[in-house]
Amino acid sequence: MSGLLPKKMVGMKLPGGAKVESGEYDVPLPGPGQVLLKMKAAGLCGSDLKYIYHEHTDKTGGARYDNVIAGHEPSGQVVSVGEGVCDFKEGDRVVVYHIQGCGYCDECRKGFFINCQNPERRAYGWQRDGALAEYMVADAGTCIHLPDFLTYEDGAMIACGFGTAYQGLLRAAVSGRDRVLVMGLGPVGQAAIILAKAMGAYTIGVDISEERMEMAGNIGADAVLTGNAQVVTRVMELTGGKGVEVAVDCSGSSTGRHQCLEVAGMWGNVVFLGEQGTVTFEPSPLLLHKNLTLHGSWVTSIGNMERLVELLDRKKIHPGQIITHRFPLRETEEAFRVFATGKTGKVCVNMEME
Ligand SMILES: [Zn+2]
Ligand SMILES: [Zn+2]
Repeated sequence: MSGLLPKKMVGMKLPGGAKVESGEYDVPLPGPGQVLLKMKAAGLCGSDLKYIYHEHTDKTGGARYDNVIAGHEPSGQVVSVGEGVCDFKEGDRVVVYHIQGCGYCDECRKGFFINCQNPERRAYGWQRDGALAEYMVADAGTCIHLPDFLTYEDGAMIACGFGTAYQGLLRAAVSGRDRVLVMGLGPVGQAAIILAKAMGAYTIGVDISEERMEMAGNIGADAVLTGNAQVVTRVMELTGGKGVEVAVDCSGSSTGRHQCLEVAGMWGNVVFLGEQGTVTFEPSPLLLHKNLTLHGSWVTSIGNMERLVELLDRKKIHPGQIITHRFPLRETEEAFRVFATGKTGKVCVNMEME
């Protein structure tokens, strides 16, 4: 198959200032331990938007961004394999865990490449060429087989958002015993609702946007509440005055975080997944006297992502159901423009569209 590959490909870079730059690049060759993927789908992420599309943080001192092809939510098909790759072959469908770590630190050994602190750590679409292109080289160690049931769009949703939501639920050991409240129903919040349900929990979604509340109903939330000042009272009514076993904040807002601590019941678990912002709270009534456990959680491990893929396949769940807008690769600029309006669910670039 590799003999038939083109020499040149289209790729998208984000130079900052809300611009998308389409360019022509050499089709890369997979080195030892690597595979070449024909890209099929790539999700756009809130982090792409904030840190690269708008602020371009290599210049503003935040997370480093090199001049690479963008996109860190890749899903594609293996079209060529490098030396020493045994577990992937041409034709295989894969989702890519979006960071390669050094491979030898404690966190890499656990599969949490996200937490690697060594300079070798490189995320696709941040420090190495990413998914918004016709082809991408991936380290085989970051690839996960995609079962036939799951589409490439499903794969792109798993690569970042669903993995993040799954890890948050694992931290709270969510099961069918639990009532899980999800604060903030953006893509990660919606993923948390879908996965908490798949784990058997009763789910309550909270948001201030009517569109997102409606989406939460469509994906099967058992109850959907408006995120106003009465939400804590409403949750107490729903739970016989006891509060929920698990509250997951995906809002990143101080109010949302505080309300999560308020609605969690005795011995409950609260997970903070939403990025940025601050929160202040009184530890005595909200944490100590409730014997609460508060977790921070960031992305997931390659092993947990693999188990997530298995769960979704076994439960016959398509993560792609949260996509509200899809664009072909050549319309990536429009995809970002629409995504930046803040009025969408998940936006996906689908390379199989013309
Ligand atoms: Zn992402
Ligand atoms: Zn490492």
